[in-house]
Amino acid sequence: MARRKYVVGNWKMNGVKASIADAQAIFAAAANHAAVDVAICPPFTLVGALVAAAPGAAVGGQDCHSENSGAFTGSVAASMLADLGASVVIVGHSERREGCGEGDADVRAKAEAGLSAGLSVILCVGEPREIRESGGAIDYVLAQIAGSVPDDFAADRLAIAYEPIWAIGTGLVPTVGDVAALHGAIRGALAARFGGAADDMRILYGGSVNGDNAAELLRAGDVDGALVGGASLTAAKFVPIVAAAAGL
Ligand code: PEP
Repeated sequence: MARRKYVVGNWKMNGVKASIADAQAIFAAAANHAAVDVAICPPFTLVGALVAAAPGAAVGGQDCHSENSGAFTGSVAASMLADLGASVVIVGHSERREGCGEGDADVRAKAEAGLSAGLSVILCVGEPREIRESGGAIDYVLAQIAGSVPDDFAADRLAIAYEPIWAIGTGLVPTVGDVAALHGAIRGALAARFGGAADDMRILYGGSVNGDNAAELLRAGDVDGALVGGASLTAAKFVPIVAAAAGL
Protein backbone atom coordinates (compact mmCIF):
# COMPACT_ATOMS: atom_id res chain seq x y z
CA MET A 1 0.00 0.00 0.00
CA ALA A 2 1.49 3.35 -1.02
CA ARG A 3 1.65 5.77 1.86
CA ARG A 4 -0.41 8.92 1.28
CA LYS A 5 1.27 12.21 2.09
CA TYR A 6 0.07 13.70 5.36
CA VAL A 7 0.37 17.36 6.36
CA VAL A 8 -0.73 18.32 9.87
CA GLY A 9 -1.05 21.77 11.39
CA ASN A 10 -0.27 22.14 15.09
CA TRP A 11 -1.71 25.46 16.16
CA LYS A 12 -0.23 25.19 19.66
CA MET A 13 -1.71 27.84 22.01
CA ASN A 14 -2.88 30.04 19.16
CA GLY A 15 -6.38 30.73 17.96
CA VAL A 16 -9.69 32.14 19.12
CA LYS A 17 -13.22 31.76 17.74
CA ALA A 18 -12.42 34.10 14.84
CA SER A 19 -9.61 31.74 13.78
CA ILE A 20 -12.15 29.12 12.69
CA ALA A 21 -12.42 31.07 9.42
CA ASP A 22 -8.68 30.54 8.83
CA ALA A 23 -9.07 26.81 9.35
CA GLN A 24 -12.04 26.71 7.00
CA ALA A 25 -9.98 28.50 4.36
CA ILE A 26 -7.17 25.98 4.82
CA PHE A 27 -9.48 22.99 4.45
CA ALA A 28 -11.21 24.54 1.42
CA ALA A 29 -7.91 25.16 -0.38
CA ALA A 30 -6.46 21.81 0.69
CA ALA A 31 -9.41 20.08 -0.96
CA ASN A 32 -7.76 20.96 -4.29
CA HIS A 33 -4.95 18.57 -3.35
CA ALA A 34 -6.90 15.36 -2.85
CA ALA A 35 -3.77 13.21 -2.84
CA VAL A 36 -2.74 14.69 0.50
CA ASP A 37 -4.32 14.01 3.89
CA VAL A 38 -4.60 17.25 5.87
CA ALA A 39 -5.40 17.70 9.55
CA ILE A 40 -5.49 20.69 11.86
CA CYS A 41 -4.94 20.43 15.60
CA PRO A 42 -6.22 23.66 17.18
CA PRO A 43 -6.28 24.35 20.92
CA PHE A 44 -8.81 22.20 22.82
CA THR A 45 -11.13 25.20 23.06
CA LEU A 46 -11.65 25.20 19.28
CA VAL A 47 -11.88 21.48 18.53
CA GLY A 48 -15.67 21.23 18.76
CA ALA A 49 -16.26 24.46 16.87
CA LEU A 50 -13.89 23.45 14.08
CA VAL A 51 -15.47 20.01 13.74
CA ALA A 52 -18.82 21.74 13.34
CA ALA A 53 -17.48 24.34 10.92
CA ALA A 54 -15.59 21.93 8.68
CA PRO A 55 -17.70 18.76 8.30
CA GLY A 56 -15.65 15.77 7.23
CA ALA A 57 -12.31 17.48 7.84
CA ALA A 58 -9.68 15.91 10.09
CA VAL A 59 -9.49 17.85 13.35
CA GLY A 60 -7.32 16.80 16.25
CA GLY A 61 -6.13 17.53 19.75
CA GLN A 62 -2.56 18.49 20.64
CA ASP A 63 -2.41 16.19 23.67
CA CYS A 64 -4.62 13.92 25.76
CA HIS A 65 -4.55 12.37 29.19
CA SER A 66 -3.78 8.68 29.47
CA GLU A 67 -6.86 8.05 31.64
CA ASN A 68 -10.42 8.12 30.45
CA SER A 69 -11.81 10.19 33.32
CA GLY A 70 -11.02 11.18 36.88
CA ALA A 71 -9.46 13.78 39.13
CA PHE A 72 -7.03 15.31 36.64
CA THR A 73 -7.72 19.02 36.78
CA GLY A 74 -7.17 20.77 33.48
CA SER A 75 -6.66 17.60 31.48
CA VAL A 76 -8.66 16.29 28.53
CA ALA A 77 -9.25 12.60 27.80
CA ALA A 78 -8.83 11.10 24.35
CA SER A 79 -12.42 9.90 24.58
CA MET A 80 -13.52 13.52 25.12
CA LEU A 81 -11.75 14.54 21.91
CA ALA A 82 -13.47 11.69 20.10
CA ASP A 83 -16.77 12.76 21.63
CA LEU A 84 -16.29 16.20 20.05
CA GLY A 85 -15.72 14.61 16.66
CA ALA A 86 -11.92 14.84 16.59
CA SER A 87 -10.20 12.06 14.67
CA VAL A 88 -6.55 12.69 15.54
CA VAL A 89 -4.39 13.41 18.56
CA ILE A 90 -0.75 14.51 18.83
CA VAL A 91 1.17 12.94 21.72
CA GLY A 92 4.73 13.41 22.91
CA HIS A 93 5.34 16.85 21.41
CA SER A 94 8.66 18.15 22.71
CA GLU A 95 6.93 21.16 24.23
CA ARG A 96 5.14 18.65 26.49
CA ARG A 97 8.04 16.24 26.93
CA GLU A 98 10.31 19.13 27.97
CA GLY A 99 7.84 21.65 29.37
CA CYS A 100 5.58 19.23 31.25
CA GLY A 101 8.10 16.52 32.11
CA GLU A 102 6.46 13.79 30.04
CA GLY A 103 8.62 10.71 29.57
CA ASP A 104 8.39 7.86 27.11
CA ALA A 105 6.09 5.81 29.36
CA ASP A 106 3.67 8.74 29.63
CA VAL A 107 3.72 9.24 25.88
CA ARG A 108 3.10 5.57 25.26
CA ALA A 109 0.14 5.58 27.68
CA LYS A 110 -1.32 8.62 25.93
CA ALA A 111 -0.87 6.99 22.53
CA GLU A 112 -2.66 3.88 23.80
CA ALA A 113 -5.48 6.05 25.16
CA GLY A 114 -5.83 7.80 21.81
CA LEU A 115 -5.95 4.52 19.91
CA SER A 116 -8.48 3.06 22.38
CA ALA A 117 -10.69 6.10 21.86
CA GLY A 118 -10.68 5.46 18.12
CA LEU A 119 -8.36 8.35 17.26
CA SER A 120 -5.38 8.28 14.94
CA VAL A 121 -2.19 9.17 16.76
CA ILE A 122 0.76 11.35 15.76
CA LEU A 123 3.58 10.44 18.11
CA CYS A 124 6.45 12.94 18.27
CA VAL A 125 10.12 12.21 18.85
CA GLY A 126 13.21 14.34 18.40
CA GLU A 127 16.56 15.20 19.89
CA PRO A 128 17.77 18.35 21.66
CA ARG A 129 20.59 20.39 20.16
CA GLU A 130 23.36 19.03 22.40
CA ILE A 131 22.51 15.46 21.42
CA ARG A 132 22.60 16.39 17.74
CA GLU A 133 25.96 18.11 18.22
CA SER A 134 27.42 15.11 20.05
CA GLY A 135 26.44 12.80 17.17
CA GLY A 136 23.87 10.87 19.21
CA ALA A 137 20.67 11.89 17.46
CA ILE A 138 19.80 8.53 15.93
CA ASP A 139 20.37 6.57 19.15
CA TYR A 140 18.39 9.14 21.14
CA VAL A 141 15.41 9.06 18.79
CA LEU A 142 15.39 5.28 18.47
CA ALA A 143 15.31 5.01 22.28
CA GLN A 144 12.27 7.32 22.27
CA ILE A 145 10.64 5.12 19.62
CA ALA A 146 11.35 1.97 21.65
CA GLY A 147 9.92 3.53 24.81
CA SER A 148 6.92 5.40 23.52
CA VAL A 149 5.44 3.49 20.58
CA PRO A 150 2.74 1.03 21.73
CA ASP A 151 2.87 -2.67 20.81
CA ASP A 152 -0.50 -3.05 19.21
CA PHE A 153 -2.12 -0.76 16.64
CA ALA A 154 -3.23 -0.63 13.02
CA ALA A 155 -0.29 0.73 11.06
CA ASP A 156 -2.33 3.40 9.31
CA ARG A 157 -3.52 4.79 12.66
CA LEU A 158 -0.17 5.72 14.14
CA ALA A 159 2.23 8.16 12.51
CA ILE A 160 5.61 9.16 13.88
CA ALA A 161 6.64 12.82 13.72
CA TYR A 162 10.40 13.35 13.81
CA GLU A 163 10.90 16.85 15.17
CA PRO A 164 14.43 17.85 16.15
CA ILE A 165 13.82 20.16 19.11
CA TRP A 166 16.40 22.69 17.94
CA ALA A 167 14.50 23.06 14.63
CA ILE A 168 11.09 23.80 16.14
CA GLY A 169 10.13 27.43 15.74
CA THR A 170 13.73 28.51 15.15
CA GLY A 171 14.01 28.67 11.38
CA LEU A 172 16.82 26.12 11.61
CA VAL A 173 16.35 22.98 9.54
CA PRO A 174 18.51 19.86 9.32
CA THR A 175 20.04 18.98 5.99
CA VAL A 176 17.92 16.82 3.73
CA GLY A 177 20.54 14.11 4.18
CA ASP A 178 20.22 14.26 7.97
CA VAL A 179 16.42 14.10 7.73
CA ALA A 180 16.62 11.09 5.40
CA ALA A 181 19.10 9.37 7.74
CA LEU A 182 16.84 9.83 10.76
CA HIS A 183 13.70 8.78 8.93
CA GLY A 184 15.48 5.74 7.49
CA ALA A 185 16.65 4.75 10.96
CA ILE A 186 13.12 5.16 12.34
CA ARG A 187 11.68 3.05 9.51
CA GLY A 188 14.31 0.41 10.18
CA ALA A 189 13.50 0.28 13.89
CA LEU A 190 9.78 0.03 13.16
CA ALA A 191 10.41 -2.76 10.64
CA ALA A 192 12.52 -4.66 13.17
CA ARG A 193 9.67 -4.49 15.66
CA PHE A 194 6.56 -4.64 13.49
CA GLY A 195 7.74 -6.32 10.29
CA GLY A 196 5.97 -5.42 7.06
CA ALA A 197 3.42 -3.24 8.88
CA ALA A 198 6.15 -0.60 9.19
CA ASP A 199 5.78 0.02 5.45
CA ASP A 200 2.29 1.37 6.10
CA MET A 201 3.29 3.72 8.92
CA ARG A 202 3.82 7.35 8.02
CA ILE A 203 6.83 9.26 9.29
CA LEU A 204 6.40 13.03 9.24
CA TYR A 205 9.13 15.64 9.53
CA GLY A 206 8.53 18.68 11.75
CA GLY A 207 10.62 21.75 12.52
CA SER A 208 10.45 25.09 10.70
CA VAL A 209 8.74 23.67 7.62
CA ASN A 210 7.47 26.41 5.32
CA GLY A 211 6.35 26.89 1.74
CA ASP A 212 9.92 27.45 0.57
CA ASN A 213 11.57 24.36 2.07
CA ALA A 214 8.66 21.90 2.07
CA ALA A 215 9.22 20.32 -1.34
CA GLU A 216 12.88 19.57 -0.66
CA LEU A 217 12.19 18.14 2.81
CA LEU A 218 9.22 16.11 1.64
CA ARG A 219 11.29 14.55 -1.14
CA ALA A 220 13.78 13.13 1.36
CA GLY A 221 13.75 9.37 1.81
CA ASP A 222 11.05 8.01 4.13
CA VAL A 223 9.46 11.42 4.66
CA ASP A 224 5.69 10.94 4.33
CA GLY A 225 4.56 14.40 5.28
CA ALA A 226 5.03 17.26 7.69
CA LEU A 227 3.94 18.41 11.14
CA VAL A 228 3.81 22.19 10.91
CA GLY A 229 3.59 24.74 13.70
CA GLY A 230 4.06 28.42 12.87
CA ALA A 231 3.30 28.08 9.17
CA SER A 232 0.00 26.29 9.79
CA LEU A 233 -1.96 29.25 11.14
CA THR A 234 -3.08 30.73 7.84
CA ALA A 235 -4.02 29.35 4.44
CA ALA A 236 -1.46 31.65 2.82
CA LYS A 237 1.38 29.89 4.65
CA PHE A 238 0.00 26.38 5.09
CA VAL A 239 -1.53 25.60 1.70
CA PRO A 240 1.79 25.93 -0.19
CA ILE A 241 3.12 23.14 2.04
CA VAL A 242 0.12 20.98 1.17
CA ALA A 243 0.64 21.83 -2.52
CA ALA A 244 4.30 20.84 -2.24
CA ALA A 245 3.27 17.48 -0.80
CA ALA A 246 0.76 17.02 -3.62
CA GLY A 247 3.34 17.82 -6.26
CA LEU A 248 5.77 15.08 -5.30
C1 PEP B 1 5.71 21.96 15.89
O1 PEP B 1 5.36 22.64 16.81
O2 PEP B 1 5.37 20.78 15.84
C2 PEP B 1 6.54 22.58 14.85
C3 PEP B 1 7.11 21.82 13.98
O3 PEP B 1 6.65 23.94 14.88
P1 PEP B 1 7.30 24.89 13.74
O4 PEP B 1 6.78 24.41 12.41
O5 PEP B 1 6.85 26.26 14.08
O6 PEP B 1 8.78 24.71 13.83
